[in-house]
Amino acid sequence: PKIIIAIDGHSSCGKSTVAKQIAKELGYIYIDSGAMYRAVTLFALRNKLAVDGEVNEQGLIDRLDEIKIEFRFNPENRRNETYLNGENVEEEIRQLPVSQHVSPVATIREVREAMVELQQEMGKNKGIVMDGRDIGTVVFPSAELKIFMTARPEVRAQRRYDELTAKGQEVSFDEILANVIERDRIDSSREVSPLKQADDALTLDNSDITREEQLDWLLQKVQQ
Ligand code: C5P
Repeated sequence: PKIIIAIDGHSSCGKSTVAKQIAKELGYIYIDSGAMYRAVTLFALRNKLAVDGEVNEQGLIDRLDEIKIEFRFNPENRRNETYLNGENVEEEIRQLPVSQHVSPVATIREVREAMVELQQEMGKNKGIVMDGRDIGTVVFPSAELKIFMTARPEVRAQRRYDELTAKGQEVSFDEILANVIERDRIDSSREVSPLKQADDALTLDNSDITREEQLDWLLQKVQQ
């Protein structure tokens, strides 16, 4: 029978990579919950509701009903891409301005309520892998398999750095390391649904293992 797999953990430790791999192996649907918070953040940036690290919380709450987020399948790369009000924003939501404002946006209770509702709706049918920060604790507390991923901050920053520079973006390693650490700090200390390991989640630290070893480990857990 199909199950729900919840993958939570720290920023930039490869949650989405492993979630996509496992979804492909099992023929499941992968849902990127972080992309939803990123899309809300992009909306806030574009509407000057997030500027220089500051978020106008009430302003954003007042306009939440103007935000429509969906995933559409792109047959060319066979991926689900994020759409904000009908526009493909998959690339733009990965850029540093969004990364630098997303954690404060994700602390807003009303934003989280709206996203969680959407996520639960998307997971109505089993056979999904969802990654994020609160999937095993809040979104799907009864998920059959919960994984909590982590890796050393320097390892995570290096991977992010390689990814962005490979796409030709000009970024500094120190800036990325600072962002990774800062997002973890905000995510773990926020009042609403803080990032924390569910009691029944299995820990996966991938600082020193390969992607193949990681996938093998996970597939073994799925079969158990
Ligand atoms: O997963 P990703 O790094 O793309 O998520 C971006 C940010 O969105 C996280 O740093 C976190 O602040 C927020 N987030 C969240 N809850 C989730 C997914 C993401 O608070 N389920």
